[in-house]
Amino acid sequence: MNPPPTSTLERPTEIKTKRTPKPMLFGRRGLAEHIALWCFVTIPLIAVAAAVPAAWGWGLTWRDVTIFAVFYVIAGLGITVGFHRYLTHGSFKAKRGLRIALAFAGSMGIEGSPIGWVAAHRRHHQFSDAEGDPHSPWRYGETLRGLTKGFFFAHMGWLFDRDKTNPQRFAPDLLADKDIQKINKYYVAIVAFSALGPALAGATWAFLAGDAIWPAALTALFWGGLVRIALLHHVTWSINSVCHIVGDKPFDSKDKAANFWPLAILSFGESWHNLHHADPTCARHGVDRGQIDISARVIWAFEKLSWAHNVKWPRADRLAAKRSAA
Ligand SMILES: [Zn+2]
Ligand SMILES: [Zn+2]
Repeated sequence: MNPPPTSTLERPTEIKTKRTPKPMLFGRRGLAEHIALWCFVTIPLIAVAAAVPAAWGWGLTWRDVTIFAVFYVIAGLGITVGFHRYLTHGSFKAKRGLRIALAFAGSMGIEGSPIGWVAAHRRHHQFSDAEGDPHSPWRYGETLRGLTKGFFFAHMGWLFDRDKTNPQRFAPDLLADKDIQKINKYYVAIVAFSALGPALAGATWAFLAGDAIWPAALTALFWGGLVRIALLHHVTWSINSVCHIVGDKPFDSKDKAANFWPLAILSFGESWHNLHHADPTCARHGVDRGQIDISARVIWAFEKLSWAHNVKWPRADRLAAKRSAA
């Protein structure tokens, strides 16, 4: 018996095309962009290596410490509250001004443009610690040698993979957002502001205080620019490397994500990574007693100011359902 002819209403090929996910990768990073990436990853690192002797050499002033702290906090929260909890996971809704400010501040972290960062991070959650994860420390196996190699890959190595995550697949919402598109377009200018802004701040401060301008600009560039960029980079990257290897796993997260308390303050709460993978849209990552989560505090303040709404705060029933049995 012949099978009945396919009805034209079914149009199987069209349905199939619609259901096939868009490709995971999208083109290759250009050479200039790749060289710039090498510079931004290695030069701040060299600066940190030189930082300790330099501090004894030409002194670290309160001016440098203040500029360092201001830029670290703005760029750091831009990454954690802006790029991560807001743009990637939609943990809350923000008024337009706050959305633009957060995308700007996150770009100051010099960890990629908003759309690129979000696409890679959503891919990380979709394939966490499995094939397709852009930065799993477990990709070379569980032997000491494999894990050592995997640690460096998850921490920094993956950044040098020139294959780009496809934003059409992982961040279509941001591609459709005119404001985010604009921030993405001016990303290089924001990077320049982030790297050189501390020098300008140092020079202005010295000018107003009647101090020598050039040495002030130089030390501010070093501490508030290079050392700050390097520290923020390594703290963020540690979430991808350290927090997928060591720490507590009080919640079922279906991957190796762990809570690593020593990084809680410097990472503004992002190192409560086990809960984050168990409940990715939750606005607070440090949900248990004593787990300091500065990013969640900041979101709370935005909510109080009515700049943020629909905040997805932790819910006792959800947490209980996700808590590990052991
Ligand atoms: Zn993760
Ligand atoms: Zn995440």
